[in-house]
Amino acid sequence: MTTRNVRVRFAPSPTGPLHIGGVRTALYNYLFARQHGGKLIFRIEDTDSRRFVPGAEEYIIESFKWLGIEFDEGVSFGGNYGPYRQSERRDIYKHYVEQLLNTGKAYMAFDTPEELDACRERIPNFQYDAHTRGNMRNSLTLDKETVEKLLSEGAQYVVRFKVEPDEDVCVNDIIRGKVVINSNILDDKVLYKSADQLPTYHLANIVDDHLMEISHVIRGEEWLPSAPLHVLLYRAFGWEDTMPEFAHLPLLLKPDGKGKLSKRDGDRLGFPVFPLQWNDPKTGEISSGYRESGYLPQAVINFLALLGWNPGTDQEILSLDELVAQFNLSKCSKAGAKFDYVKGTWFNHEYILLSNDETLAPHFEKILSNNGINASHEQVVKVLALMKSRVNFIKELWPLCKFFFVAPDTYDEKTVRKRWKEQSPRQIAELYEVLKDLEDFSMEAQEAAVNQWIEACDYKLGDVMNAWRLTLVGEGKGPHMYEISTFLGKAETLQRMQKALNTLSAEPLME
Ligand code: GLU
Repeated sequence: MTTRNVRVRFAPSPTGPLHIGGVRTALYNYLFARQHGGKLIFRIEDTDSRRFVPGAEEYIIESFKWLGIEFDEGVSFGGNYGPYRQSERRDIYKHYVEQLLNTGKAYMAFDTPEELDACRERIPNFQYDAHTRGNMRNSLTLDKETVEKLLSEGAQYVVRFKVEPDEDVCVNDIIRGKVVINSNILDDKVLYKSADQLPTYHLANIVDDHLMEISHVIRGEEWLPSAPLHVLLYRAFGWEDTMPEFAHLPLLLKPDGKGKLSKRDGDRLGFPVFPLQWNDPKTGEISSGYRESGYLPQAVINFLALLGWNPGTDQEILSLDELVAQFNLSKCSKAGAKFDYVKGTWFNHEYILLSNDETLAPHFEKILSNNGINASHEQVVKVLALMKSRVNFIKELWPLCKFFFVAPDTYDEKTVRKRWKEQSPRQIAELYEVLKDLEDFSMEAQEAAVNQWIEACDYKLGDVMNAWRLTLVGEGKGPHMYEISTFLGKAETLQRMQKALNTLSAEPLME
């Protein structure tokens, strides 16, 4: 057991919207940090200026704010290990590049892109490594004077890591166990480019993990191939003792079939792969987000937490606190997790049921006002309580609940044929009188009066209720009749009955 303080980081590159897999990675880091009383750091890895996308950083921050994943340090959060944006750490990296050059662990390479292309054409599977570097133009093959001359002329170069051949490199992965890779398959990775005076991902990532005292690197499986290089870099700097432990999380897979989940799967099957809607600043393309699609953040968290890990019981609904208590990094699966987006909608349904109607009200109010309805808060909460169990998304409530706010102006033909019987006009006219005479329009009072009248006349309760429903709702659906009439109030109820009587009685009555 490590006695180190737990410090983990989520380190996205601001190259576009955050993919839902990245959200899962951040969530697992968050759960791990919280359960160990550790710190979660938000670092922006923006050393590849060609891939920088404006707005991406703000988008990522807003996504976590919406999801309720809180960071302890980092870009926009502050902390003692800053700056946390890599483009603001140039001088720090320069110092460490120098260190590797001075200790012979790295070298300068002057090969031009054209020269490298020529090598790739000439030599199949060309790799810049121990076997080829001797034939290239670098500070190992050129004499000191030539190198100095090139530098004084301002020639561009890259700094490459000198990977020693024939060495087994071992990565201890919390999820995957011991992963051994022979250094012969690694190339002399570029660590720094003179052209923009910036390090590449690999160097910046290692230097920052070290300086920010990162104890565990928890990230997606796609970074596993980089891990041996990262281990070698730690060693080259002499930082073995503080090397973080690694955990490479399982991939998120397509819902239907093999391969990695992609945006195209979302477009094809109709689900978002981003937490928030993303408006691409270059193409103008709009990609849907979980927030805008009507998911509750807790539902997204719960859904994602179970993609690659489970508590080992049947429990599927877990609050964030329960996740913190039960999450176990070492029990994450090695195999990829199928992105069952339908399950995501089920989680949303469950969280709608669990949510307080007061919290859901603003969502529904927005939908109502988009439809031109100005309902009171009390009405909104009441309709939610009556109807939310029927939907997976709050937006689905509108077609189901429109009648609460707007009187029907047409009557569903099929329901009319089935429910508006010969005796219906007479019965509804009588019911109208029964209700009109009520001073107390409470649910109980209505029910008592209506029952008494039905019994006295020996009517069939079903006949009356079905016809009455048609007059108030315009079709055959909805909650209990007295819930509807109480919600509408006496005046509106009577008005709708009158309107239906006028409209439907004009139709030829059945013989
Ligand atoms: N910047 C990398 C990314 O975009 C970070 C990978 C890592 O966590 O080491 O995911």
